[in-house]
Amino acid sequence: MYIDPHVHCVSRTTDDYEAIAAAGVVAVIEPAFWLGQPRTNSGSFKDYFSMLVGFERFRAAQFGVRHYCCIGLNSKEANKPELAEEVLDLMPLYLAKEGVVAVGEIGFDDQSAAEEDALRKQIEMAQEVDLPIMIHTPHRDKKRGTTRTMDVLEDHGFPPEKVVIDHNNEETVREVLDRGYWAAFTIYPHTKMGSARMCAVVEQYGSERIIIDSAADWGVSDPLAVPKTARLMKERGISDAAITATTYENALAAYGQSGQMSADDWLNPLPIDQRTLFEGNSVLRGGQEPRIEKITKPDVVE
Ligand SMILES: [Zn+2]
Repeated sequence: MYIDPHVHCVSRTTDDYEAIAAAGVVAVIEPAFWLGQPRTNSGSFKDYFSMLVGFERFRAAQFGVRHYCCIGLNSKEANKPELAEEVLDLMPLYLAKEGVVAVGEIGFDDQSAAEEDALRKQIEMAQEVDLPIMIHTPHRDKKRGTTRTMDVLEDHGFPPEKVVIDHNNEETVREVLDRGYWAAFTIYPHTKMGSARMCAVVEQYGSERIIIDSAADWGVSDPLAVPKTARLMKERGISDAAITATTYENALAAYGQSGQMSADDWLNPLPIDQRTLFEGNSVLRGGQEPRIEKITKPDVVE
């Protein structure tokens, strides 16, 4: 059983859902992020947030995958101050929805003043609603950006045990762990942080507070990165306990602090019934045979 705690499901296909479910991914977390195409008004964010807590959650369930999400204003789009204000005003409504496990993904991109302002406001929001935070660390000047993010979090007295710092590498992991945060790693195919490098990190730093995710999105990425890395760790002789911690338990412990995510959600799930509709919409297209699971629990009389 695996959890992939960072996937942008809205840009993936039903084939991906089938593949990850078959590979043992029982739950995914989808953080709000930018979409490639810059949004021109806050209504686009409103509909996007609604999709994360609504249709996408439904769509995942139709393939046997539990879907959770994070709501946040991403760092890139925080650089349009007027739009940013409107999006921040929208957020409290969505942070209260079922299945929202954190404020995120938030943090720095260019490390601008506008980004820092949006980050600080969202840290305060997370404090108010008592949710964990998922941090996106910048891809450029990562080391400085990661340190600066933790400085800002500490400025607000936000507890590090409720923060997952994502997109780490060998240069950032030591400081992130030393300062008490969860350290997540995104496995990018062909480049940057691959599965082999991830194994080396676990060999060096152990499995405590280390989390592995795919961050699969609309770019070149691999929604199977978590199960594939788990397999490679096994081949390299990393212990089953360390594999389970980094690909399942730690993500559950970190985001379970929201009170919105528990193992019972996937250990005792509702059976899949693809005849179900969401606001009149089905995941099936003309004439396709719906997948319908029977309830097999012994205490249920059919
Ligand atoms: Zn992301």
